[in-house]
Amino acid sequence: MSTILEPGQIEASAVSPPFLHLPPGNLFEVRAARLERLAQGHALAGYLRLIASLCRVQQQLLALPPGGVPVEAERQRLCISHGLPPLSADSLVREGAWLVWLQALLDLYVPPPGDALADALRQLREADTQQRKGWGIALLAGQYDALPAALVPFIGAALQAAWSHWLLALPAGEIKPGGSLSQCPCCGSPAMAGVVRNRGKHNGLRYLVCSLCACEWHVVRVKCVYCEQSKDLRYSSLEDDRHAPDKAPLRAECCPGCQGYLKQLYLENDAEGEPLSADLASLALDMALDQAGFQRVAPNLMLAPGGG
Ligand code: FE
Ligand code: FE
Repeated sequence: MSTILEPGQIEASAVSPPFLHLPPGNLFEVRAARLERLAQGHALAGYLRLIASLCRVQQQLLALPPGGVPVEAERQRLCISHGLPPLSADSLVREGAWLVWLQALLDLYVPPPGDALADALRQLREADTQQRKGWGIALLAGQYDALPAALVPFIGAALQAAWSHWLLALPAGEIKPGGSLSQCPCCGSPAMAGVVRNRGKHNGLRYLVCSLCACEWHVVRVKCVYCEQSKDLRYSSLEDDRHAPDKAPLRAECCPGCQGYLKQLYLENDAEGEPLSADLASLALDMALDQAGFQRVAPNLMLAPGGG
């Protein structure tokens, strides 16, 4: 692991930057392709390919949504005007409109040959609606001991597909920043990672990526997104022959104040980079940071911490 300082970046924009950046309609296809590429020669190849296969099903679900948006336009507008996330994960996961997405995912998913996933799929298929809903609530609450680790990617994939579909139907231009830097203004979920963008009106700006709906919101650079301090932040990356530390496409912004960190993808160093796949392909960095005393705060809904 190597650690550098990031030069204090002044965001060179006279006008205020666009606050929201919506994912493209083919985001899950992009993730799948990227995961398949990263899996080549990777120590966790089997796991990355499993997630890629789930992303392919997520894209199928977006193309043929099994359910509509569960929040009426009037309620969306009311939430937005009060500065509340219109697709609140807390309440919508309990209302359960996402459960048809989980059923559709189970109907579409073709497991790979072999029986590595057979137990997990059987357990999911046999579970009733209440049980499935309970697992979804536990996953979004970060209560990983309340659901079997092998079920996490399946439930996470269904939740993400539903929320991304709902997100793409929102009047996103009206959304304002919420109370917390690290929480999604559209659904209230915690950020999964950051992206420093490299093109057009977003050039050089940092956006945080939602762990659930995949929307991206602007947060100034060189600031801990958890305690909002800028003092002594360090940027850590995995040793890599191909990149100097200050050119590494993925670096973690580590805060000595609160011991939290957030991984960031620098698109200027990897224009094809995609945050969810980059996060899963760099779990070795999480292990190194854990040993250095830092705590991962950001969830990745395709990953059960410590459960593989
Ligand atoms: Fe979100
Ligand atoms: Fe901090």
